[in-house]
Amino acid sequence: MVSKCANPACSAPFRYLHEGKLFRMEMNPDGAVDTLHVVAPSGKPAKHTEFFWLCDECAIRMTLAFEKGGGIKTRPLTRALRAAS
Ligand SMILES: [Zn+2]
Repeated sequence: MVSKCANPACSAPFRYLHEGKLFRMEMNPDGAVDTLHVVAPSGKPAKHTEFFWLCDECAIRMTLAFEKGGGIKTRPLTRALRAAS
């Protein structure tokens, strides 16, 4: 499953579920992405599911989004952070 932070520029190893932010991506049988959302670590995968994880450092600065043909990409969270503070 997850071995390191989903940010390609970050090499933080995945160790604990309570650190950072875990994303679950569910895919339809045809390969199209159904949903991409943050999950509780205890959530049971129903269909074809992939997990992505952002370490603490990255989770406060970015989130993950699926791009058609490009796969999972990081997205900056600057707007959300400003709105929250
Ligand atoms: Zn990271």
